[in-house]
Amino acid sequence: MLGAGQLGRMLALAGIPLDCSFVFVDPSPGAPAAALGQQLVCDYLDPVGHAALAQCDVVTYEFESVPVEAAVAIAARVPVFPPPRALRVAQDRFAEKSCFRELGIGSAPFAAVASEAELLAAVRQLGLPAVLKTRRLGYDGKGQFVLKREEDVPAAWAAVRGAPSILEGFVRFERELSLLAVRGRDGQTAFYPLVENQHAHGILRKTWAPAPRLSQALQSGAEAYATRILEHLDYVGVLAVELFEVSGALLVNEIAPRVHNSGHYSIEGSRTSQFENHLRAILGLPLGDTAALAPSCMLNLVGTLPSSATVLAVRDAHLHLYGKSARPGRKVGHITVRGADDAELAARVAALQAIPGVCDSD
Ligand code: AMP
Repeated sequence: MLGAGQLGRMLALAGIPLDCSFVFVDPSPGAPAAALGQQLVCDYLDPVGHAALAQCDVVTYEFESVPVEAAVAIAARVPVFPPPRALRVAQDRFAEKSCFRELGIGSAPFAAVASEAELLAAVRQLGLPAVLKTRRLGYDGKGQFVLKREEDVPAAWAAVRGAPSILEGFVRFERELSLLAVRGRDGQTAFYPLVENQHAHGILRKTWAPAPRLSQALQSGAEAYATRILEHLDYVGVLAVELFEVSGALLVNEIAPRVHNSGHYSIEGSRTSQFENHLRAILGLPLGDTAALAPSCMLNLVGTLPSSATVLAVRDAHLHLYGKSARPGRKVGHITVRGADDAELAARVAALQAIPGVCDSD
């Protein structure tokens, strides 16, 4: 596995009952997954010549900034899933949005910009407000600038430090949703119910699963979009599709070619977790049932750690700590809580949110 962060750790925890063993590649010593396998503390390209690679049946990754050339070089020796092509598309917002357009998938209007003059032209073409995003390496709202007036152009261009970017029309969405999709090596697909995501300062804070007021039409629409992407990329593994809901319609914001924070609830909230299904998919095993077991809510712990005992005193709350030291803005764990119905779930979420360190983190 390329990367040994918390996603790698949760993948490994799902793989142990399937008798999988893991080699992690991560340049940071003692990364969260390291205790669950062998860690090669090296650059992502280095395992190409490493003896450990010969022991691997399959290679996957747990973050989307894996250098594409590393994935391609490894794929010449050992199957890599999801395919490196998915990385190439997901790493460049312009390639990603162009792919959506080619597939007839609704998304915000956009234009590539490579200079301040092109930004001004794009602002005039798309109108305001608009969001400027760097094409590469933006995540959790980093590398973004919302333009409200034409006079914002110089500040926006300075904010992205002149990096190749895209300008997107501002979407006045009602809510943010995501769909976790999975495709096996034989082309079989399965979809989790849409979930609703709430962010603060660009970081996911809470996921409600399944999304409240979820209609069959919304679910089918999201699945149809995801199917086009999965087939186009000849995808294998879990794919996260992030969406905006606008007046009952869906626009795709972006994809992540990996297990996703908005699917963490599935460990306790689904018949088969996203982590187990990712492993089943890449190993060529039958996919597991994606149905929800109960209304669930996942709360991210960002920057601070609450008392474990206080969290676990809330009925049906489950705590996941990633073994990371607390630092502002850092995801250090999450809680998943379930309820018999929406009212019971809401009461348990309120009880959790009242605990110091759960929601008062930055
Ligand atoms: P992203 O890095 O693309 O996931 O964007 C981070 C967050 O910014 C999203 O979760 C949305 O809340 C917001 N956002 C991104 N793109 C747009 C857009 N075109 N219009 C309105 N809000 C957006």
